[in-house]
Amino acid sequence: MFPTKLKLHWQILIALMLAIAVGLLVGREVGIFGVSFYSVFDFLGNLFLNALKMLIVPLIMSSIIVGIAGLGGSEHLGRLGGKTIGYYAATSLLAILVGLLLVNLIQPGVVEGDPKEVFGFSADVAALEAKIGDKDGGDVVDVFLRMIPTNVVQAAAEGQMLGLIFFSLLYGFFIGRLAETQAETQRHFFAGMFEIMMRITDLVMRFAPIGVFALVAKTVADTGLDAFGPLALFFLTVTLGLATHILVVLPLLLYFVGGVSPARHFAAMGAALVTAFSTASSSATLPVTMECVEKNAGVSNRTSSFVLPLGATVNMDGTALYECVAVVFIAQAYGLELSFATQFLIVTLALLTSIGVAGIPAASLVAIAVILGAVGLPLEGIGLILAVDRVLDMMRTAVNVFSDSCGAVIIARSEGETQVLQPAVPAQAV
Ligand code: ASP
Repeated sequence: MFPTKLKLHWQILIALMLAIAVGLLVGREVGIFGVSFYSVFDFLGNLFLNALKMLIVPLIMSSIIVGIAGLGGSEHLGRLGGKTIGYYAATSLLAILVGLLLVNLIQPGVVEGDPKEVFGFSADVAALEAKIGDKDGGDVVDVFLRMIPTNVVQAAAEGQMLGLIFFSLLYGFFIGRLAETQAETQRHFFAGMFEIMMRITDLVMRFAPIGVFALVAKTVADTGLDAFGPLALFFLTVTLGLATHILVVLPLLLYFVGGVSPARHFAAMGAALVTAFSTASSSATLPVTMECVEKNAGVSNRTSSFVLPLGATVNMDGTALYECVAVVFIAQAYGLELSFATQFLIVTLALLTSIGVAGIPAASLVAIAVILGAVGLPLEGIGLILAVDRVLDMMRTAVNVFSDSCGAVIIARSEGETQVLQPAVPAQAV
């Protein structure tokens, strides 16, 4: 895109820094010739996002089908599936526990004076206390119902990725059951489709510095710095939790379980992390995540094409952590003491709903609403965290994507892939 030798991820990083300064400077109103800069950022950011999203459906389908069809038999699939689900569940749970510990230690919602006045709530706390314990998991069940779509085209069109993944898993699996000539045609077709998606990703990523600049400048212009005042402690708690997970927990897993250098993995994932941060969408970042994991970290397509699309949809460590901290924070803000049983319920629901949350911006808010409802807290609590949600969304999405990529590396290593993150890995692609 730019006539420069600077690596793409540095270009993106510089764009991100510039965007923060420019966003703060111009705000929503400043413009030129009657056109606000804000609307220009909005337009360019959306163009970039659209281009990434355009790739999601064919990418998920082709990568899962190629991955599963290449596994050869249900035994491999079972083993890889078991490891993947085990990794996802374990890391999400660790993230939630980090969040739970911090929110109980820091207690960001406990304030001096009447919490109703400080936070401007209207709900009656006594009535609330009586309601806690009146749980309803119906909405969580819904998430799992959607896993088997009645119409796969509609599921794809509506962004119900779980349904699409389920269908693609079956499709790939039964390719292995076809006569060899038919199976080969199918494999070649979807492998070609996957390769094309990767090449289009390359093309889209050349515009990433502009796209990232526009997306971040718009967010900063929107949010400003004022919004953080009363929520500073909440913001800090989430940030600290996410930082602990991405800088301590996951690197420890990479080092001890995967046997690879965490620093090398961070370097490999640079472009994906910045893209996740600026788009706040794991799904939109998926093409970039796949490029980084395969080309920079050296994970085989066989592993990454199974682990990553699934991860972008179901493995959300940052989201799970955020849900837990947000719900406990809201309860604290209402002046409620949460019993051990209720906290346990919150942990379980955060784990389950983080699986169902779509990889799109602000998707956690829906899950938080579900958990609030289930533990009997009023939905208006969400209004409280809205002001800082976007920036936290950017951070938790980066954590979500990084955890997926660590999963791919760790599972690849456990499958005997010795070339992963070794010094001789191919040169940086993105
Ligand atoms: N934006 C997040 C993601 O795409 C989901 C969320 O936590 O809202 O990973």
